[in-house]
Amino acid sequence: MSDRHGIHIEGLTKRYGHGETAVDALKGVDLSVAPGEVVGLIGPSGSGKSTLLKCLGAVIEPTAGRMAIGAQVIYDNGWRLDDLRALRRDRIGFVFQAPYLIPFLDVTDNVALMPMLAGVSDREARQRARELLDVLEVGHRARAMPTQLSGGEQQRVSIARALVNHPPVILADEPTAPLDSARALTVIGILNDMAVRYNTAVIVVTHDEKIIPTFKRLYHIRDGRTHEEAGEGLLLTPPEVPVHA
Ligand code: ADP
Repeated sequence: MSDRHGIHIEGLTKRYGHGETAVDALKGVDLSVAPGEVVGLIGPSGSGKSTLLKCLGAVIEPTAGRMAIGAQVIYDNGWRLDDLRALRRDRIGFVFQAPYLIPFLDVTDNVALMPMLAGVSDREARQRARELLDVLEVGHRARAMPTQLSGGEQQRVSIARALVNHPPVILADEPTAPLDSARALTVIGILNDMAVRYNTAVIVVTHDEKIIPTFKRLYHIRDGRTHEEAGEGLLLTPPEVPVHA
């Protein structure tokens, strides 16, 4: 693809409600993430993290400001792209705190469903899913049902699902919150590897002190405004945790 140049927002604002009860949740946010980069987004409760994540994921519309993914403009001061559903399906991958796998589909089909929904043939979708499951070291579980997997395996499958349509952007919302230190570092290590391998811009919203030192760049959000700062970028190799543990 020629336009895989990350995600960029400028002067993004979001006002909930009208008149005296209006809340300005975002007051002019600037943020840029390059392909292959993983940035952290941190801030206290009520600072606007969820609102920003929902705008980035094209789940809610900002009030004003500009957002683009590569050369594709999504919002521009009141104008918006027509088909936000296709944008969410094809251009943005989501990773959550819990894997949310579909219990009645096997591992392959949980991942293949995404390209199938985008119109790819079942055969090719399953092929893509299996390749990615191999990359994420859960290829041997391709035929298992989600309940037969460990928590770590399920999280890898959910990362495969987020990547399978090769989105230029991945949004991860507290992806390590329930995990112990070693597993949290494993997940963040996987996200960093995948960002580079697939040229994806990754934004991780987190409170998790265990992973904050891993970011090379962070955005702090306070009272609806972002402040960029350099992070430590300490992506240490975590102690070996077996995939099936
Ligand atoms: P965070 O995720 O950092 O806790 P939010 O984005 O949820 O912050 O909230 C930012 C501000 O916007 C808060 O003051 C919150 O009360 C307000 N807010 C969030 N969602 C809504 C909504 N749907 N309607 C009105 N106000 C909202």
